Amino acid sequence: MRVVALEEHFNLPELISRIPSSAIAEHGWPTGDRMPATMSRPDELRDLAGGRLKAMDAAGITMQVLSHSGPGADLLDGREGIAFALEANDRLARAVAEHPTRFGGFAHLPLRTPEAAADELERAVTELGFVGALLNGTTRGRFLDDPSYEPLLTRAERLDVPLYLHPGIPPEPVRKAYYQGLPPKVEVIFGAPGWGWHAETAVHVLRLVLTGAFDRHRGLRVIVGHMGEMMPVMLARFDEVFSKDTGYLERSVSQTILDHVVITTSGFFSTAPFVAALMTFGASRILFSVDYPYARNDVGRAFLDRLPVPPDDLVKIAHRNADRILKLPLDAGLSAPLHPPAE
Ligand code: ZN
Repeated sequence: MRVVALEEHFNLPELISRIPSSAIAEHGWPTGDRMPATMSRPDELRDLAGGRLKAMDAAGITMQVLSHSGPGADLLDGREGIAFALEANDRLARAVAEHPTRFGGFAHLPLRTPEAAADELERAVTELGFVGALLNGTTRGRFLDDPSYEPLLTRAERLDVPLYLHPGIPPEPVRKAYYQGLPPKVEVIFGAPGWGWHAETAVHVLRLVLTGAFDRHRGLRVIVGHMGEMMPVMLARFDEVFSKDTGYLERSVSQTILDHVVITTSGFFSTAPFVAALMTFGASRILFSVDYPYARNDVGRAFLDRLPVPPDDLVKIAHRNADRILKLPLDAGLSAPLHPPAE
């Protein structure tokens, strides 16, 4: 069975090493003694070929749609952020060109410069053959509903590509108010993969709903991972509590989310959250993903194989939804970048 995974990460250590340590500290990315074991995968992240392909083959993963993980262009102002994003995308495009049936790409964007982020999304899609973009949480505390991001939302809508809202480190005031007073690594996990950044990603989606951004951008499509970032269990509650005061919106909160958002299984390989997702988002809005290398391909694939769904739904979740939404070329020859960048 063809299996496509789309929250799969890489990074470029030599690019990240150019980010000043003060910017990394300000953003709150953990380093040194604060780095939890669960967030540290340097060797697997930098591998864009051999070991990665071997791990995919061993688990039966046909294709990874790759995205940059860790400190990135969104920590850098102006030209530096733009240069980081361009280089990261060009490097990824070369890896995709070398393995066009195995890798796809989400663009990395210079989000501190929203107009440039829109332009880089367009370049990545039209010139590099990427299938959308992936964002890591907030940029200087701003979500995508911030008016400065209107050009980016408009461009994604016009290009007809999804934005993957991936979690990121919470802004400093949130970290201080909610997650302090614990052993350093536990603080980081609590604010990030143990709770905080999942809740924050649901906040990100809700802000796009409640500000009317999804009403203004009816063609905007968003992907969130981690079995829907808690939204499957909250959908009915959203309508119950918001509906009397959100008459300015064109649709109910839950309908807006279902119209614009699809979810992936990244890192969530247990049945209870999947059943909640299946009963709310449905099999046509659930896409398999692993969250490699933070989660293991074999564990994800074993979970896929035991999903309590009929064969047709299994195929949708394994690849058909991703093929449709990302417009993945099933023919190897067509999936190479249109204009592979030179070395
Ligand atoms: Zn991830």
